Amino acid sequence: MTVQQRFETHDIFNQSPPYEGVNLFASDAALRDAVTSNGAGGEVDALSAFGRQWGTAEMVESARLANENTPKLKTFDTKGFRRDVVEFHPAYHGFMTESFRAGMHASTWNANGTRAPAPSEVARAARYFMIAQVENGHMCPITMTRACVGALAVEPALLAKLIGKITSRTYDPTFRPWWEKDGITLGMGMTEKQGGTDVRANSTSAMPSADGYAITGHKWFMSAPMCDAFLVLAQAPGGLTCFLMPRFRPDGAVNGLRFQRLKDKLGNCSNASSEVEFVEAFAWRVGEEGRGVRTIIEMVQLTRVDCVISSAGMMRMALAQALHHARHRVVFQRKLADQPMMRMLLADMALEVEGATALMMRLCRSFDLAASDAGEAARARVLTPAVKYWICKTAPGFIYEAMECLGGNGYVEETPLARLYREAPVNAIWEGSGNVMCLDVLRALSREGEAARAVLADLVRACGDLPGAREAAGFIATILSGADGEARARAAVERLAMLAAAAALAESVPGVAEAFARTRLATPRGGTFGSSALADNDVVTLLDRALVAA
Ligand SMILES: Cc1cc2nc3c(=O)[nH]c(=O)nc-3n(C[C@H](O)[C@H](O)[C@H](O)COP(=O)(O)OP(=O)(O)OC[C@H]3O[C@@H](n4cnc5c(N)ncnc54)[C@H](O)[C@@H]3O)c2cc1C
Repeated sequence: MTVQQRFETHDIFNQSPPYEGVNLFASDAALRDAVTSNGAGGEVDALSAFGRQWGTAEMVESARLANENTPKLKTFDTKGFRRDVVEFHPAYHGFMTESFRAGMHASTWNANGTRAPAPSEVARAARYFMIAQVENGHMCPITMTRACVGALAVEPALLAKLIGKITSRTYDPTFRPWWEKDGITLGMGMTEKQGGTDVRANSTSAMPSADGYAITGHKWFMSAPMCDAFLVLAQAPGGLTCFLMPRFRPDGAVNGLRFQRLKDKLGNCSNASSEVEFVEAFAWRVGEEGRGVRTIIEMVQLTRVDCVISSAGMMRMALAQALHHARHRVVFQRKLADQPMMRMLLADMALEVEGATALMMRLCRSFDLAASDAGEAARARVLTPAVKYWICKTAPGFIYEAMECLGGNGYVEETPLARLYREAPVNAIWEGSGNVMCLDVLRALSREGEAARAVLADLVRACGDLPGAREAAGFIATILSGADGEARARAAVERLAMLAAAAALAESVPGVAEAFARTRLATPRGGTFGSSALADNDVVTLLDRALVAA
């Protein structure tokens, strides 16, 4: 017996070993199937190496350090001059370096800023899904950087100037003008004190100047303040307009961004979220005056997909932690993983993650194909808000249930479950919160018209004779086209996401699709996980697939 296993008063036993040194790809059958069925089978070896790298004990420890040592705002220097910089722990910079090296901020763009060919979205999503299992906070600037390119496409000259720095695989945290740096990150500021959803209420003003615009006002939430430039919305003479505001003015002087304080947040602690004032800050216009919402929505659609991937990844890690623990912990002379009620609970949770994983990857496939396939473009447009609604809302309760599987150990900070639990709600709140996502589904259905009806028909077709699929489609169509569609939209949007999950499973893991449809569409389970009526063979299949020895 080692010294660590023994105290003077007692021996330590029946504690599960840490869940680390794991290949996050090879151990996850749902992820492997989703990658292959969505066109990224050629990436399997690279993804397995990535999964091994991100599942090490060192990564787990770095995530703890990056979140316990939160970023600090340095507003002034010792002599009272403004600095407006944020300092991060080295562990945060380590994650940024690795995610940059993996191209998470730019791998879906070609060197000229056009969309990279399929399966770049699916391959990136698989990596993001594994990163999210370890550390989410640093992915905020990574997500925004990749998404901003979508909006900058309306200004080809500006994009051409920046794209080389954006697609660089070198993370450069120095505080210097963007043109002097080896690689840059981009953020965004839309939310003001008086409104985040209703950005048309923005009061920040933009006045044309000699070489661009001078922006004066504030943002109430502006995350990742050390980004090198930000997409911001402001009221120009022609109405609400999108701008790109660099940290340094073209003459090399520090731009007029004054950070007031950092938010003291529930989770997402490794990431900084600022309150900022703009004092005649220099910015370039992006898109025409008055078309700010339309321009920035190109970015928002992409950030919403990343919220989905992040939440699905956190659910996967919570499930793996619960299963790993249950396979080691003995209660009443029997492993938890062999106790009937715990098996049903874990299998039901595994089924939820199967659905979330397949759905998330199928959605990314639509983004991969959207440029050349109008049906896939409509699918991305209609389903993105529905999938964000369902997966991001499911994650917090799901992680709580996983936490309970570890008993008291799950509730303490040393396990990543406490951190995941505090992290999870933000994905539902930012980038369009729950009700707003449902309104967006309604908007997409009315704007896309025939194409949207074709999306629903496609989902039903993919489901084949899965139980409850046709009834679900009927329910969705009836509710969303009814006079009180807005009031009842949540029920229909949730059902739409589950129908899409069943369809995605039918394509990638037919053996699991039937159980999903039976317990989520035909006879919806009770309010808690473990209340589904899963057959014995379903339970065996799901638990075998959920955590493969690797
Ligand atoms: C950690 C964190 C970081 C953030 N970082 C950024 C950032 O970098 N940049 C940025 O611009 N913003 C950022 N935000 C802000 C975030 O995007 C907003 O908080 C969010 O969009 C909601 O806006 P709001 O807070 O003004 O809430 P409100 O718009 O007031 O909404 C409140 C509630 O009302 C609901 N609601 C709104 N309209 C309707 C309606 N018509 N019908 C029914 N319900 C409705 C919403 O769903 C929400 O639940 C961040 C937020 C957080 C928590």
